[in-house]
Amino acid sequence: GGFIKQGYDAILDEFYHIRHDTKKIIAETENRYRQISGISTLKIKHNLILGYFIEVTPTFADKAFQTIDLTKDTDSRLFIHRQTLATAARFTTVELADLDKKISESDARILQIELSLYDQFIERIKELSLGLRDAADAIAQIDVASAWAHLAVAENYCCPELDHSTRFAIHKGRHPVVENALKKMPMQTQFIPNDCTLEDNERLWLLTGPNMAGKSTFLRQNALIVFLAQIGAFVPAESAQIGLVDRLFSRVGAADDLAQGKSTFMVEMVETATIIHQATNRSLVILDEIGRGTATYDGLSIAWATLEHLHENNQCRGIFATHYHELTQLEDTLSHLSCYTLNVREWQDQIIFLHHVIKGQANHSYGIHVARLAGMPTTLLQRAQNILQELEIQNDNHKTIEHSTAHIPKQIDPQAQILLEKIQSVDIDALSPRDAQLYLYELKSLIKQTG
Ligand code: ADP
Repeated sequence: GGFIKQGYDAILDEFYHIRHDTKKIIAETENRYRQISGISTLKIKHNLILGYFIEVTPTFADKAFQTIDLTKDTDSRLFIHRQTLATAARFTTVELADLDKKISESDARILQIELSLYDQFIERIKELSLGLRDAADAIAQIDVASAWAHLAVAENYCCPELDHSTRFAIHKGRHPVVENALKKMPMQTQFIPNDCTLEDNERLWLLTGPNMAGKSTFLRQNALIVFLAQIGAFVPAESAQIGLVDRLFSRVGAADDLAQGKSTFMVEMVETATIIHQATNRSLVILDEIGRGTATYDGLSIAWATLEHLHENNQCRGIFATHYHELTQLEDTLSHLSCYTLNVREWQDQIIFLHHVIKGQANHSYGIHVARLAGMPTTLLQRAQNILQELEIQNDNHKTIEHSTAHIPKQIDPQAQILLEKIQSVDIDALSPRDAQLYLYELKSLIKQTG
């Protein structure tokens, strides 16, 4: 109880008053009865048998019996006799009996009245529910629109231009959440705005750059700008021209779904497969690291083929962030692919992230540098540095990845190599029909041996 405000219901208010001001009400009633009866020693008392009652000394018993009820036309008596003792005469009145009942029942009655008012309230809400829902919906829309408007002014957003082309030109775009988080940091770092133009021969951007340089932020900020633009909001940029996107695809982060039997890499592949199957030339795709969850060449091959597929088949606008620097050579063969990177400056054995997206490609990932920032032990870092140097020397010596074509050369099986050499070395014109037949038998038996 106690959940209905005073002033809502007169009967409830009366019970609240009776419960809270019992002493005062009894004192007032006592006073009134003294005046009406002229018995100044009259008292109202309480016991468990009679409840509230009026008591006068035996001297005034007759006077009490004679007291007339002035509210009635007829000469009816005010006090109703209840008990006579040697020391006192006791009475009640209709009013006092009623008051007594109300006082003793007040707690239960308050709860009962409140619950019944609550039920009536629910019934009323049910009757008004459709209207209430419409009102809530309208208020929600106003709330969202006014919040966007407030953000647009406070955070300096611009009105995007949307059309039916396949344009995508963002000038000085920002990531709204990262920008805000940076402002709240103790050093109040400035967010560096970046341009992004996914048009014509730059429909797909291949983004390389060290860890922590801002690749993920850049990818997501462009996706967020499209999302905001297409829900009708202003966007965090100086200007934005966007040809309507039919769908926005993203593959970011490393999630797993072990409960459903899917490893991180499996989730990565399932998400990539969805994009490959569904993205159209009107879609925007952001891919943050493909193929990282498997062995290097395995992953590189998948990333390579995915990039080619997006370029050739899906023909979507997109940004593809990767640490596989080998992919940058695709810029020469894929006419709509352009390489961008995040600018860093090396200074006294340190690197400084400038968070600025520029044309070009990164040549290092600076993973060990980030591991140092993360607090890895110096001995471990030193060991990693040595291993890296050795691996880089080996890689320079072998150069297993061919750079001349847009396809990764397959590692050829030595058995198959024998077969290839046999085919390449034969001079067909010099063979008699009989030799040719023997040659074919020989080839077949070789195939059988190599499986
Ligand atoms: P990457 O994906 O290249 O590893 P992130 O996008 O995760 O890098 O960015 C790492 C951090 O760098 C962010 O958490 C943010 O603090 C900072 N950062 C990223 N982009 C910018 C930017 N444009 N301006 C300022 N700081 C940025």
